[in-house]
Amino acid sequence: MSKYEGPVTKNEVIDVTIEDLTHDGAGVAKVNGYALFIPKALPGEKIKAKVVKVKKGYGFARVLETLAESPDRIEAPCPIYNQCGGCQLQHLSYGGQLRFKQKQVKDVLERIGQLPNVTVHSTIGMEEPWRYRNKAQVPVGEIEGGLVAGFYQERSHRIIDMDECLIQHEKNDHVVTTVKNIARKYGIRGYDEEKHRGTLRHVVARYGKHTGDIMVVLITKGQELPNKKNIIEEIIKEIPNIKSIVQNINPKRTNVIFGEKTMVLWGDEYIYDTIGDIKFAISARSFYQVNPEQTKVLYDKALDYAKLTGGETVIDAYCGIGTISLFLAQQAKQVYGVEIVPEAISDAKRNAKLNGFENVTFAVGEAENVMPWWYAQGVRPDVIVVDPPRKGCDEKLLETILKMQPKRVVYVSCNPATLARDLRVLEDGGYQTQEVQPVDMFPWTTHVECVVLIEKK
Ligand code: SAH
Repeated sequence: MSKYEGPVTKNEVIDVTIEDLTHDGAGVAKVNGYALFIPKALPGEKIKAKVVKVKKGYGFARVLETLAESPDRIEAPCPIYNQCGGCQLQHLSYGGQLRFKQKQVKDVLERIGQLPNVTVHSTIGMEEPWRYRNKAQVPVGEIEGGLVAGFYQERSHRIIDMDECLIQHEKNDHVVTTVKNIARKYGIRGYDEEKHRGTLRHVVARYGKHTGDIMVVLITKGQELPNKKNIIEEIIKEIPNIKSIVQNINPKRTNVIFGEKTMVLWGDEYIYDTIGDIKFAISARSFYQVNPEQTKVLYDKALDYAKLTGGETVIDAYCGIGTISLFLAQQAKQVYGVEIVPEAISDAKRNAKLNGFENVTFAVGEAENVMPWWYAQGVRPDVIVVDPPRKGCDEKLLETILKMQPKRVVYVSCNPATLARDLRVLEDGGYQTQEVQPVDMFPWTTHVECVVLIEKK
């Protein structure tokens, strides 16, 4: 028996109305103020639900029957939507998703950032929100002795074979299926996570949407890849536009995909892609935005908010391979980029050279340590752009921004909660959040990306 005595009990069947969605896309119903989370239910819907878990302040339930449907509900276009877990919002119309993301940002800015009056624009969506990903990372395993490659069944480590993913570019689907068939033909063993045995752990396909370049990465448990020569020859024969075949070795018991060692098996170490007028070299392990069409929209917005006139000094913190830095360098006097991954900075330097930029300086290190050092050297940026990972900006970095006193900060965020927390710090330090532009980088998933303009009061 559960000790908790609240408005609901486990296994109770109850009729509720859904009021909202959580950040991970579950419906929220309130029973006398008590929150019930109900996966796959949509706001406005009346649901007959069965309570499956009861905690102290909130519980979980599952849909038994939908009594009244939301006008935004659609049939999930993907046949494996319910097993896969890669997408979370295929039961919600695309328009509904864009509204959900805007509201998500608004609510979080109000709740965590105490910023109830900031303008949050409508989410900029895609005209054709399918097949947008330029990178596929597909786990390989074995079922009853046969090699399979596809996706992990939701909340498990069982790999289900798959040849088609509706948010993946067709080229990548073709590459993965082709490599899978070649691996089967040559008797390559899929990796067995439990026994830590087998050869092929992942197949990664990268596609330069604007150049057509294709890269294949075979991630293996050890150095050895039986029939390597034949496999390479067949990949070249079967995949037109292949520019690079790379092997990466990951001998560890881990769910991290890439290992430390990378070898080029055939072709170049890099493929190329362009965003706007700028060309980027992308290596097997580099971070590069996965939705190239929306990346352009996102970077254009960041550049727009930076309001550069040609004379400015700009810092791009968390710069990756220098994508935003080079966008800024087109319109600034001097750009400084900082990033923690050394390979990304060598790519960034290569990209600056490739495009003939001489007004960018890149440094390897933690942005929170490199920025104070720049400050000590006398660097006084007019504009600071930050694009941190999900955990947001380090406190020390925010302190340094306040010391540097730029006219403007442009914050590119993939997590509204940490964005809101950081905006509060900047607000308390004399800055004002002017406007927020959500950009849909990941249609059919709950991921929310936005660009924010912050100015000195
Ligand atoms: N602006 C780039 C990359 C953004 S992703 C782009 O649009 O492509 C965030 C980046 O921050 C990653 O490249 C990650 O390696 C880097 N990073 C994470 N923690 C960091 C830190 N403390 N200091 C500097 N860079 C960091």
